[in-house]
Amino acid sequence: MKEYSKTFCVYPWIQQQTTPGGRVNFCCISYYTSVTDDEGKPFELDKNSFSEAWNVNYMKDIRKKMMNGEAVKGCETCYKQENMGKRSYRQMHNQEWSDKLGSRYLEKLVEKSAKNDFVVDTPPAYLDLRLGNLCNLKCRMCNPHNSVQIYKEWERLDKENDGQYTEFWKERGHSFGGCGPWYESETFWSGVEEYIPHLKKVYMTGGEPTLIEGNYRFLKKCIEMGYASKIELFFNINFTQLKDSFLDQLNDFKWVSINASLDGINTTNEYIRPPSRWNICDQNFRKAASWGLKNFSLGISPVVQIYNILNMVELCEYAEEVMLENKVEILVDFLFCFSPSFLDIAILPDNVKLRALEKLEEFKPRSLSYNGKGHQLFFMKDGIDSMITRLRQTMGQENPKQMLDFVQYTKTLDVQRKQSFSEAFPELNGLLLEAGYDVASSRGLFKNSNSQLIEARP
Ligand code: SF4
Repeated sequence: MKEYSKTFCVYPWIQQQTTPGGRVNFCCISYYTSVTDDEGKPFELDKNSFSEAWNVNYMKDIRKKMMNGEAVKGCETCYKQENMGKRSYRQMHNQEWSDKLGSRYLEKLVEKSAKNDFVVDTPPAYLDLRLGNLCNLKCRMCNPHNSVQIYKEWERLDKENDGQYTEFWKERGHSFGGCGPWYESETFWSGVEEYIPHLKKVYMTGGEPTLIEGNYRFLKKCIEMGYASKIELFFNINFTQLKDSFLDQLNDFKWVSINASLDGINTTNEYIRPPSRWNICDQNFRKAASWGLKNFSLGISPVVQIYNILNMVELCEYAEEVMLENKVEILVDFLFCFSPSFLDIAILPDNVKLRALEKLEEFKPRSLSYNGKGHQLFFMKDGIDSMITRLRQTMGQENPKQMLDFVQYTKTLDVQRKQSFSEAFPELNGLLLEAGYDVASSRGLFKNSNSQLIEARP
């Protein structure tokens, strides 16, 4: 379809998202936004329907800005990706939806809305459902809004340390919060039923989507209403379990894509995503790769961050091994951690960046996917090249203040979770020590009444 401007993205014309807390958003990448009414009050899905939030001034303004090439608050991740030479979500989604709905159809939709004060008179074709924060893991880069385990841990840390844990995050622009059972309300479900006949794709994550009962209710509803065969499903799941009750419902759908939220193999994944056990994730992932279903694709979406930057090659090798073993395509879609910013690889000292570059450059010529063809080549090449670009672009830009946040956060969670950064990542730990960052002897995040750092309490 036409690239109307440098910031144009088709999402606000075709997609709505539920946040895990029950608000409406225009995109999942846009973390800290939610659609509001003219008074700035967010729409709440236990009281408002999706359709009430579809053509409000908030949405019309985003559409208008995108047509005019203005930057949109919340779309920063896409702009950053483009800046590091990575194909952004914006660019990928524009392509994906041109293929799905046809360029001509989308251009008509967009141009018709532009002539009608940016009102879109058809309901969204794409729904992104996050029905709460129920999750069994507490990943290092995640937050209480998306994981009830982190919510509980945060609450405990905060209580035991006189509110300093919340204070630490607040100073860095993050908030504490969880979710109520908004997804049980009949208002929400009647809004969903109203949308089902128009849907072409639904994305489900959470929380952990295989644990969330509402997802099963949604799948059943699509099947009962007779629309499953028209709908593509996309899941991000952590592969700590693979329930038959989950798998049984997928056969009726047009297409099912499952991306594994794996951030590394062995200890790397276990450290970043506790309390997952690698042998179980591996077993489940291999089982999924061997299904041989016609309407199914499998991928991995690692979050590239400080913890795993020296281990990304191992994960790529693992994907290629499973791919060869099962003769299936596995798309590795690298996501970059920009938030919290003290996990972003950009802040690292140069010695770590150089070692990461060395590993990635060494892998390139021997990678099957990097030198392969089709989607597989595209995802692997795009991911590896953009990691390399980000590391090169930020060389010489070590951020000691944020590195100190990284060290203290890591130590605090190590004490709390009984984990050890130096044992999980001996090479990274050694390079950080050389650069003057010592996680083991850090005293964590908490300060005493004289503002001195004190040991994080287990
Ligand atoms: S530009 Fe990026 S962040 Fe904004 S709506 Fe599109 S995909 Fe989402």
